[in-house]
Amino acid sequence: MTKRPRKAIIIGAGIAGPVTAILLKKAGIDAQLFEAWPHSAGIGGGLQIAPNGMHVLAELGLADEMIHRGSVAESFDFYSQSGVRLGSVNQNMKQRFGQPAVNMRRATLNDAILNKAWCEDVELAFEKRLVRIEDRADQPIVAHFADGTSAEGDFLIGADGVHSAVRAHVIADDPKPFDTGLIGFGGFVPRSVIENTPIGQRVETTFGQSGFFGYGFCSPDRNDGVMWWSTQPAHGTAAATFRAMSQGELKRHLLNFHAGWHAPIPQLLEAADNITVTATLDVATLPTWWRKRALLIGDAAHATSPHAGQGASIALEDALRLARLMQNEQELSATFEAFEKERRPRAERVVALARRNGNSKREFSATGAWLRDHMLKWLLPFTSRGMDWMYEYDPRAV
Ligand SMILES: Cc1cc2nc3c(=O)[nH]c(=O)nc-3n(C[C@H](O)[C@H](O)[C@H](O)COP(=O)(O)OP(=O)(O)OC[C@H]3O[C@@H](n4cnc5c(N)ncnc54)[C@H](O)[C@@H]3O)c2cc1C
Repeated sequence: MTKRPRKAIIIGAGIAGPVTAILLKKAGIDAQLFEAWPHSAGIGGGLQIAPNGMHVLAELGLADEMIHRGSVAESFDFYSQSGVRLGSVNQNMKQRFGQPAVNMRRATLNDAILNKAWCEDVELAFEKRLVRIEDRADQPIVAHFADGTSAEGDFLIGADGVHSAVRAHVIADDPKPFDTGLIGFGGFVPRSVIENTPIGQRVETTFGQSGFFGYGFCSPDRNDGVMWWSTQPAHGTAAATFRAMSQGELKRHLLNFHAGWHAPIPQLLEAADNITVTATLDVATLPTWWRKRALLIGDAAHATSPHAGQGASIALEDALRLARLMQNEQELSATFEAFEKERRPRAERVVALARRNGNSKREFSATGAWLRDHMLKWLLPFTSRGMDWMYEYDPRAV
């Protein structure tokens, strides 16, 4: 029998970090969580948690709360720029996979999991930016923070996202995030903007000759109950250039880019404020996910561009699977090796799918877009079934 690690240091209080801390605590392992930024109640745009991720929220006792505070997505429907319906995927998720797909504000998800972490007595410190890790034999592993403080534990989990600092400790010359050449805009508008549009609980998405637009309900909130997003080729313009623009300029850019697209896209953009801009990043496959007593999970291990709508769900899966494997009382290195062996094939399959999906949002000639739309119409019924492997996975049942 090996000495059981008693204390985890977790870097990053996004999605994977707090959930790992909660589940480790439940498994009898202490967890201290460190986040670079101050606590904020309003971060990020909207996202969708798929059934595979909802199983993890169910394990935490948060699935019903998120269904109540979010909005169940009954399908994901596709249209051409002029509004011709191309098809629909992701129907009857709850009946088929045991949990629905749920749209929500990232801030609502973050609020629920941080509250849960506090209820489970997870120690949580904000404004603690990891800058260096020391991992010497016969001593605790030490995390050093930008403010000059440090923390010690038996092992360290890097849940610090796409720009992970832990990754640089785990891998010499670690691959850096690269821009995929697509840029994302997003935000929320009042429910009244689409309440008279017959979309029901569907998420509606549109492929343009250049770019992509999506929207759907994401909360019962009257003022911010609809999420929308636009993905466009960046044409060499950096996200920072767009971020430097005023809200009025951003709105004009979006109205111009989506001019002539079917209703209610122009109406959604007219109502938009607090528009956020995101570079669409990807990271090359890592040679390893761990070194000695430090392990990467979530986007730090397998950052994915957002085009499969799965990054948060597989980060949630990572948290649950790691906590389960930690209960096997093996050497830490054996647990980390087992984790990577189990998780890598699935995560990389999702990353590859997201890359392929991203390619259909680039710029097409008029004929190319016409061909793509016709192909989609024909292929979508098969694509739908071809995605079941993502959703039918229940990390509690592995
Ligand atoms: C525009 C967009 C839309 C998306 N839509 C979806 C969707 O619909 N569905 C879905 O499943 N996924 C979606 N994703 C992907 C999803 O957001 C990520 O995969 C998910 O957030 C990964 O979770 P994580 O916990 O690994 O990382 P994060 O959520 O990024 O959390 C990392 C945390 O670590 C902190 N941190 C970073 N560096 C340090 C440091 N040095 N010290 C301390 N803390 C640090 C960060 O501040 C952050 O809080 C989307 C992504 C984008 C960009």
